Amino acid sequence: MNSTATLKVPALDLKAQYETIKDEIRAAIDSTLERQHFVLGPEVDALEREIAHLCGRRFGIGVASGTDALILGLKAVGVGEGDEVIVPSFTFIASADSVSMLGATPVFVDIEPDTFNLDATKLNAAITSTTKAIIVVHLYGQTADMDPILTIAAEHGLKVVEDTAQALGARYHGRPAAGMGDIGCISFFPSKNLGGYGDGGMVVTDSEECYAVLRKLRAHGCAKKYVSDFLGWNSRLDELQAAILRVKLRHLGSWGAARRVKAEIYNQLLSAEPKIKRPVNAAGREHVFHQYTVRVPERDRVQAMLAERGVASTVYYPVSICLQPMYRELGYKQGDLPETDRACASALSLPIYPELNQEQQEHVAESLLQIVRSI
Ligand SMILES: *Cc1c(COP(=O)(O)O)cnc(C)c1O
Repeated sequence: MNSTATLKVPALDLKAQYETIKDEIRAAIDSTLERQHFVLGPEVDALEREIAHLCGRRFGIGVASGTDALILGLKAVGVGEGDEVIVPSFTFIASADSVSMLGATPVFVDIEPDTFNLDATKLNAAITSTTKAIIVVHLYGQTADMDPILTIAAEHGLKVVEDTAQALGARYHGRPAAGMGDIGCISFFPSKNLGGYGDGGMVVTDSEECYAVLRKLRAHGCAKKYVSDFLGWNSRLDELQAAILRVKLRHLGSWGAARRVKAEIYNQLLSAEPKIKRPVNAAGREHVFHQYTVRVPERDRVQAMLAERGVASTVYYPVSICLQPMYRELGYKQGDLPETDRACASALSLPIYPELNQEQQEHVAESLLQIVRSI
């Protein structure tokens, strides 16, 4: 047994991060408690301005989760009953079920094998007379190839919604993620690069009209208290979350830089083994490495063997969304989206977070190299 055999490397270590910001977080929580203003107050206002600024946008609207950001955002750009919305099938279920929640139908398209993101060359074939919007997911922290997507959307008069749950802070040829389409939808789920201590989300946009509609959609259709202009939800970001997120936002840039350094270290450590396909960082795209995702043969076996060595890894995503039981009636079958199927069978995300240390990282890489060479 070698000396690192018992080293444990979790998939994520939120406690380690908390230890580095504990005093700031407690101060922010304290001042919110002293204020006793808990829903839609000064912290949410300030966070909306700060996140909008980060995304190069005029407006931010805090909501209860990333999923709600998608549902309300889609509704605000006009998606409803009978519409079709183009979505990648290799993503978290919320990218698609938000469409269904509004009575619209997701139309699934395949991904680029290199970046795991929506393949713009597949869009034209998926567009019909009822297509209303395209949801672009910036998966794992790297933006999709936005220029051709925006061009095709403009040609067909389609709205573009950027699912930026995994990519806040990423850039595409200098332009910020969530700052390129009609709206950007952000999640503050605890495990995201900017994660709260509970659920939270935000929509960002430059459209004054969208902004006004979203402020009502999150609060029963009301702009004025007790005057409901249309059907809305109760989907608001609370002050405690906003206060916590504002503290963490101050560190997002350095955390992103640390993630990139870790990714580069993995790239080097794993470069000797061609059976391990390392993530591709496409030219002009600043990756924030929400995940560091490799492709390996016999992925499930490799994952189990990593676990035996104390290394937690994660499969994002084992099942193509179009093949989920809930979408059975849409009639998709294995092989319709071959790159998605291949990704579902081979992708494996290794632990990556700013607090991951060199010893842990070397243990992950050495274990993976040994396992892949042994099978
Ligand atoms: C996390 C995530 C969401 C949903 O965000 P929640 O805040 O958990 O509702 C949506 N899309 C993608 C790609 C995600 O990773």
